[in-house]
Amino acid sequence: MSDWATHAKTAMREAGLRHSAQRDAVVELLARQTCALSAQQIDDGLRRRRRPAASRATVYRALEQLAALRLVQRLDVGLGEARYEPVRPDRDHHHHLVCDECGQLTPFEDAALEQAIDRVSRSASFSVQEHDVVLHGLCDSCSA
Ligand SMILES: [Zn+2]
Ligand SMILES: [Zn+2]
Repeated sequence: MSDWATHAKTAMREAGLRHSAQRDAVVELLARQTCALSAQQIDDGLRRRRRPAASRATVYRALEQLAALRLVQRLDVGLGEARYEPVRPDRDHHHHLVCDECGQLTPFEDAALEQAIDRVSRSASFSVQEHDVVLHGLCDSCSA
């Protein structure tokens, strides 16, 4: 997991971004996640860990910079706030089930779905840089 943090920090340095302890704290927090977080959740997480006090604006700015370098993927899952997911080039990525009632985000992987998306990309002669699939509905506890 810390591989991604190292990769992200190297990429930011190579892109000429000045070092920022607050941005590093955002990267380290994201590196420990298995799924996407909102800026609010990242902010809360940093506060809990008493990391260098980052303002919400700093967190957003860091996320924008990470997204511009394709180090994180910005997901609009229709919960009012975007979620941010580390892009781990060495690993299969996943997609999301979103509960429209409680906002719970559940990751899922499906190799056949990835192949289908590749096929679409090839047949449309379109170079797909990234994709995300969001399935909306109700989680177990909300549909009970
Ligand atoms: Zn995820
Ligand atoms: Zn739910």
